[in-house]
Amino acid sequence: MNQLVYQFNQDVVESSHYTPDKIIGKGAYGIVFRAKDVDTGERVAIKRQRNVFKSVEDTVRTLREIKILRLIHHPNVVTLKTILTPRNPMKFNDLYMVFEYMDYDMRSMLKLNLGRLCTEQISAIMFQMLQGVDALHAAEVFHRDLKPQNILLNRDCTVKICDFGLSRVAFEGQCLSPTHLWTNYVVTRWYRPPELCSNDRYIYNKSIDVWSLGCIFVELFTGKPMFRGYNQIDQLATIIETIGKPGCRVLDTMFPPKIKKYIAEFICHKHFPMNLKAAIGHLADDRVIDLVSKMLSWDPSERPTVKECMEHAYFDAIRDTYARDDPATASPSPSTSESESGSGSGSSAALDPKEFEFETTATENELYLVVCEEIELHHG
Ligand code: ADP
Ligand code: MG
Repeated sequence: MNQLVYQFNQDVVESSHYTPDKIIGKGAYGIVFRAKDVDTGERVAIKRQRNVFKSVEDTVRTLREIKILRLIHHPNVVTLKTILTPRNPMKFNDLYMVFEYMDYDMRSMLKLNLGRLCTEQISAIMFQMLQGVDALHAAEVFHRDLKPQNILLNRDCTVKICDFGLSRVAFEGQCLSPTHLWTNYVVTRWYRPPELCSNDRYIYNKSIDVWSLGCIFVELFTGKPMFRGYNQIDQLATIIETIGKPGCRVLDTMFPPKIKKYIAEFICHKHFPMNLKAAIGHLADDRVIDLVSKMLSWDPSERPTVKECMEHAYFDAIRDTYARDDPATASPSPSTSESESGSGSGSSAALDPKEFEFETTATENELYLVVCEEIELHHG
């Protein structure tokens, strides 16, 4: 921690505004620490993203994350309060993003609460997660890494989606050059849908997030990840053992020949396929089983949309509590007029493609400038 505080003081202009006191998260790209805002006394979470300019891919990934966070405002999406100003704007490697602080991520909450979440809590958490992802999908943002570690919670069961490090925006008619094809190396393995387990060329859609949400839904009941494969093929085997094999059409369209053969010849263990009811346990009623089994459909086109999930009878008792008129709001970009970008709600809240032009056109130097501009926007 001392080393971190030292680094923090050296790196950013606003270091005296915050007192860091605890490391709360470590990930592949950096560290997250808790701090107090000296002026307001408010707790914040500061994510230090390391080596942002190490490669073009790293910079692009960071830019996607900070732009999506600036443009999407929703009660179930974590708020990026600001990005701290580098002490030396001509030469810096790390970004410091300041977020509203949340008490737990879902992984740590499940560890603490194992077996003690009641049905009301589960449906409230699930519904808010769906609301958050609905706001993203309305803005054509695919999260692509939904898992308990990326779902933040407060003690009162407020839910916020975080970590947009693997997210992407899909613009209609977007023609991507081969170097910018969507990578299939997304979604942490246990939450990865079957179409991404074995087929590098599969063109996926928003239903990949629905699969991950289905896995998380079950985990809220069991406290344990549902499909724990130790590699991609084992992941498929684990899925088959729980929900059975896919039909011929899915086999033909979704998988390359080698995998198709593997699945077709797969012999389920004696006591499998385990049915969902047994996997979920005594809290699962018929509506839970119905919704989970739809979200975990082999065929991506048979999975309900996030909106359809929210309309499911399982949420009838709580829907009104969380109903909002304005599910998603994308802020108008400073570079576009109101009429072009629209600050509307729901499905009309698409993000401005100009914000994401860096994806296809920018050089290393230009990307550096876009990051600097993005920091400046928080200090305007
Ligand atoms: P990474 O890309 O390293 O996974 P995340 O944004 O997911 O970065 O943050 C890593 C971890 O830090 C999360 O899993 C969570 O435990 C913690 N964390 C992140 N943001 C917050 C926050 N706003 N409040 C509390 N904890 C947070
Ligand atoms: Mg994460």
